[in-house]
Amino acid sequence: APLNLENFCSELTDIFQLSAGNQCNIIFSSQGEHTQAQMDEDLLNCIFTNLLSNAIKYSSQNSTIWFDLICKDGLATFQVKDQGMGIPLKDQARLFQTFYRASNVGVIQGTGLGLSIVKKCVDLHGGHIQFESKQDVGTTVIITLPLRSFASR
Ligand code: ATP
Ligand code: MG
Repeated sequence: APLNLENFCSELTDIFQLSAGNQCNIIFSSQGEHTQAQMDEDLLNCIFTNLLSNAIKYSSQNSTIWFDLICKDGLATFQVKDQGMGIPLKDQARLFQTFYRASNVGVIQGTGLGLSIVKKCVDLHGGHIQFESKQDVGTTVIITLPLRSFASR
């Protein structure tokens, strides 16, 4: 069944905002008229629960997280942007490796599996993932997925 990405993302935002309470403020925005997609909802859930939980976990109190969706030209572009601790340049190349965690995580717990799973989910959808991050400034993860991920028969 087709999935409405705008509804999907805004519901996920509500769930994460409820669980984060006043620790952070999550702002969702959507651009584009056609947000219907043929995508696997479980894979999308896996991708964005990991990205939103990272954004919350690696941010300090009272910070803002922006979750943006842009649908155009047959592509959905999703952006999760935070104002958290960022990722040191020297750690960035290994981020999608299993069990890899950056050197600045301190006491924050994690297995280092989330992003490697996200990368696999994006690849399965024929999509693309990139990020921009600066230590002590924040991180933005950008994911592009085709709105129709499988060939028409
Ligand atoms: P888990 O498997 O529980 O998600 P994790 O969060 O440590 O554990 P990943 O989600 O794979 O693992 O992230 C890998 C590493 O990338 C993290 O340990 C952290 O160092 C860094 N990282 C990921 N997202 C962010 C972010 N939004 N801000 C700062 N660092 C991040
Ligand atoms: Mg994680």
